[in-house]
Amino acid sequence: MTDPIPAASAPGTVVHELSDLELGTDLRFVPGVGHDRAVLLAKLGLRAAGEALFFFPRNYEFPSIETKLPDLKEGVPASLVGVVTEVELRSGAAGKSTLGVLVENDEGAFRIVFYNQAFRADQIERGMRVLVSGTPKLVGLRWQFTHPKVTTLGPDEDPPPGKILPLYGLTDGIKQYAMRRMLAGIAPHLASHVREVLPAEIRQSAGERLGCALPDIDVALREIHQPSGEDALRQARTRLVFQELLVMQLALALRRRRLTTDLASPPLTATPEIDLRIQKRFPFALTGDQVRTIAEVGQDMGRQFPMNRLVQGDVGSGKTVIAQYAMLLAVAHGYQAMLMAPTEILARQHYETLTKALAHSRVRIGLLTGSLPAVQRQALVKEAVEGKVDVIVGTQALLYGEWTPAKLGLVVIDEQHKFGVGQRAMLRSGGLDPHYLVLSATPIPRTMAMTMFGDLDVSTLREKPPGRKPVRTYLGRDNWRERWWKFVREHLDEGRQAFVVTPRVADSPRELDDADESAETSTTQGDKELGETPDSLESISSAESVFQELAEGGLKGYRIGLLHGRMSANEKAAVMQRFAQGRLQVLVSTTVIEVGIDIPNATVMTILGAEHFGLAQLHQLRGRVSRGKVAGHVCVFTDSEGSPEENERLQVFADTSDGFELAEADFRLRGPGDLMGTQQSGMPPLRVADLQRDQKILHVARELAQEIVDADSELTAPEFESLKKQVLKRYGKVLDLGDVA
Ligand code: ADP
Ligand code: MG
Repeated sequence: MTDPIPAASAPGTVVHELSDLELGTDLRFVPGVGHDRAVLLAKLGLRAAGEALFFFPRNYEFPSIETKLPDLKEGVPASLVGVVTEVELRSGAAGKSTLGVLVENDEGAFRIVFYNQAFRADQIERGMRVLVSGTPKLVGLRWQFTHPKVTTLGPDEDPPPGKILPLYGLTDGIKQYAMRRMLAGIAPHLASHVREVLPAEIRQSAGERLGCALPDIDVALREIHQPSGEDALRQARTRLVFQELLVMQLALALRRRRLTTDLASPPLTATPEIDLRIQKRFPFALTGDQVRTIAEVGQDMGRQFPMNRLVQGDVGSGKTVIAQYAMLLAVAHGYQAMLMAPTEILARQHYETLTKALAHSRVRIGLLTGSLPAVQRQALVKEAVEGKVDVIVGTQALLYGEWTPAKLGLVVIDEQHKFGVGQRAMLRSGGLDPHYLVLSATPIPRTMAMTMFGDLDVSTLREKPPGRKPVRTYLGRDNWRERWWKFVREHLDEGRQAFVVTPRVADSPRELDDADESAETSTTQGDKELGETPDSLESISSAESVFQELAEGGLKGYRIGLLHGRMSANEKAAVMQRFAQGRLQVLVSTTVIEVGIDIPNATVMTILGAEHFGLAQLHQLRGRVSRGKVAGHVCVFTDSEGSPEENERLQVFADTSDGFELAEADFRLRGPGDLMGTQQSGMPPLRVADLQRDQKILHVARELAQEIVDADSELTAPEFESLKKQVLKRYGKVLDLGDVA
């Protein structure tokens, strides 16, 4: 051990030899880091050396054998190292630019060129050592690479053949090679300080199921930062991914257990008489999937601990029936049920459906939404608290009140994919926990179901109610518009109704669409005057202008209504009602109609500015016209000049009508984050695992986690001690696992 405090260091600082590093060593004191860089690293959340050790590369640069300049051949890919000696950016008209860079090494010089990527001028500096990979071409007497891959190398960093270079996610001011050098210093010294948390047996078992040996933690940590080869890297990564996913799945398995065994709910048994009584109210024969799901729900609700079930089904698969069944089951036992919908329109629709279905029964139903006047709201809350209402339907505004229903037996959350793990509020009443039923608007890719909703049991409705006609989806080119409106008119003349959907409310300066819920839950409605109109917004179709255009043009003479989230709840309800009753033939609307709206006579939908919508959203919209016994038609037009065929997302949308396939495609195209709003799930982000790429590891982790918890429900065996600590540290709070500890 060397003296940790050399005489020359400034007072109060501790300069460490690499061999003295501890996991907790402040990065400022790690040799070669220093104060300034430490400040930048803190932006990445890295303060201690041990944190840096767990900051894994985002990707790797795989070696390409370095080529000598004289050996270059036209059209044959090559990699060369050299120093940048000239950088020249020439700007032309209309944002066009040419960036020319001269690179020299002992054998001579070559040029690299980027067209219209002026930003690269900031990334490439004179004096920088670079590894250039691409396909060379002789221009005059000089070799040139157009748009090559350029990797920055440290002053004395060589790309020896076979060495895989890690690429880290960076923050401004930190160079890739500085990051590499720091970790090359830290990893070999600190890797062995990290405690092994995976018991040997589990590693063995996981390794067998994955067909890949899982190395020790110190080997894995060294290899992930400084791979000695592709196989070693793959094994290291597999081990770290497995560990990360196992910790997550253990947390979810513990939570599932906790939700079932530690909590008490009223058993609401579906006796044959009750079952018959409820089923008699359905005006149609149930699909096989509905029958099965109802049986599952009945079984769950008959137990003395809460049901936690997710029902996922494509739009129009008939999820509402399941909710009705569950609610009536609660009511049959003298308990209350709550139904929460994401929008006021949807809440109202549920209220009306239920009121109709229960017209000649003694079930009392209340509608509680954000727009209800305070006096009426209070009155309804009072009734609910006193147990005088059986079913309370409403928006999330329901949740915000500081009140508890008298005898709450069931909470149904409809069409709400943002209710991830840890977000389902626990509403207790009378010392008991209600049963929970979550209906998902979007079919959930398997991996998501196993993570974000991993503490729920899942029922899937794949089968559509009989007689459903498929929806046809067309990609509308610009010059089709006239023909399309003619087609729409023909349908209206046959007595059908049509939706026209736009991404924006008005041409006035304002953000894109307006989800209904934001109108209810946020207070930022008066910010109209704030923004200026960005150029990009001006060209986006708005509901108000489309409404005007159609009324005077394509759909002149038809009864057209306008619906958007900036209207008051009462205005919205009135328009919806007129459309539902057929008094309006056409509804021009923003995405406030996205979820749930059920109007079987509406069979034609036009989506304008379709490039502004996500896949899941488009599919939800399409679901509005696939509910009747008549085939639906959807045509999407884009605002931009390109035809919709050039847009991969729209192409996928038109080609795929199955919501489950589409969800998987969306997952592939955009990653899990966008699809479901993983940020909103409340789950901590993953460091190494990629849910898309690592599905197999996820399955194995889930399987093993369940086996472990089945055998040792509190992870009390000594070999699980460190693993359990990690689980609690990372997920204890989010998943409320406190009392497992
Ligand atoms: P979603 O799953 O999208 O919420 P809904 O529950 O709103 O779907 O059902 C869509 C439509 O299908 C409704 O009009 C509903 O009455 C009808 N429906 C549901 N189940 C059946 C069935 N088994 N047979 C016939 N129609 C059904
Ligand atoms: Mg629904």
